[in-house]
Amino acid sequence: GSSALAGKVALVTGASSGIGEATALALAAGGARVAIAARRADRLEALAADIEKAGGAALRIEADVTRAKDVTDMVDKVIAEWDQLDILVNNAGIMLLSPTADAVLDDWRRMVELNLLALMGVTKAALPHLKAAKGHVVNVSSIAGRVANPGASGYAATKFGVVGFSEALRREVYADKVRVTVIEPGLVRTELGGHITNAASKAGLDQRLATMEALTAEDVAAAILYAVSQPPRVNVNEIVIRPTDQE
Ligand code: NDP
Repeated sequence: GSSALAGKVALVTGASSGIGEATALALAAGGARVAIAARRADRLEALAADIEKAGGAALRIEADVTRAKDVTDMVDKVIAEWDQLDILVNNAGIMLLSPTADAVLDDWRRMVELNLLALMGVTKAALPHLKAAKGHVVNVSSIAGRVANPGASGYAATKFGVVGFSEALRREVYADKVRVTVIEPGLVRTELGGHITNAASKAGLDQRLATMEALTAEDVAAAILYAVSQPPRVNVNEIVIRPTDQE
């Protein structure tokens, strides 16, 4: 494999499926040691085996990043194992689409707690180590963090929030040589839509996926790998990546 990331340690949240899993594989193939965090232990075990089979190094961390204790334990485990953290990929997220009028408050709460508040907390917990390493934060927002669509108000609120947080963070830490990248994908074929509680919204998403060629998780992982493989002077701040079929 390539060695653009040789000597680097990465932490990927939401690594048990979709974009996070593909990103962990891509970073490992690039030569990084990769800590993989999520709640589903069986998925993490299978992914770690895949990474190791390909000659990479993986550290499994069972964590619910909406729990403050899990977050500090997660970062501590990375440091205890590898003594450094160079790349944080804040990817864990959920998309509970619903029109505002029909929204379930608990869906909104779950999205804010995971997509926004947990991402902020993980960043804060990792920041001292990222500064020490002149590291890199990659925040997975969405095209919904740039274009607010009807039927996605709650999700858009969290993803616009990620963009705002990331830009302020970038301006706080650039002088420490810490880089910040926001990734804004359009529709990607993953398990993301599977948790939608609003039947009409779920049907609408399934319909869109059935009538277009969506991105793959690997397409997005390649964009993340690009951002983190640049020389230290290059700060790739924002990547919008849509399926060609998407307006
Ligand atoms: P998946 O549902 O496949 O992946 C979501 C990941 O988040 C899983 O690994 C899941 O693991 C993890 N996760 C969920 N809750 C928690 C939690 N409380 N603590 C830790 N991990 C958690 O969807 P995607 O790969 O599509 O989504 C990844 C990111 O990409 C999300 O932020 C999403 O908003 C964003 N995105 C996705 C797009 C798409 O069209 N698919 C488009 C634009 C952005 P587990 O359940 O094991 O904890």
